[in-house]
Amino acid sequence: ATEPYDADNIFAKILRGEIPSSKVYEDEWAYAFEDINPQAEIHTLVIPKGEYVSWDDFSMSASAEEIAGFVRAVGKVARDKGLVEPGYRLLANVGAHGGQEVPHFHVHIFGGQPLGRMIA
Ligand code: 5GP
Repeated sequence: ATEPYDADNIFAKILRGEIPSSKVYEDEWAYAFEDINPQAEIHTLVIPKGEYVSWDDFSMSASAEEIAGFVRAVGKVARDKGLVEPGYRLLANVGAHGGQEVPHFHVHIFGGQPLGRMIA
């Protein structure tokens, strides 16, 4: 029971290059860019290129190839930013209670500082 994908959401526009973003990484499956309102020293977003509303939609509907490609891209971005040794945090907000604001599935990567136990 996922809502239909809104092709006018802000991340869809970023993927189409209709609004600017500070690109960090891109491959066949994923696009990564810096969050416009960072909540940590490093706050990067990774989105799949496919049209998925949320983690629920993505995890249930995407192909194994898309899922693997996306997961690998998230790992690559964190590595390329040198986050593995100091450590980092992944987060996906889902739906209203999760506080999801943009209806295109995205994973937040937080790092560059000790993150404590706060949930962002
Ligand atoms: P959510 O609450 O949906 O998990 O997180 C959405 C995130 O997208 C927020 O951290 C917000 O700062 C970020 N964001 C919203 N609009 C834009 C935008 O136009 N550009 C970028 N780079 N980030 C955005």
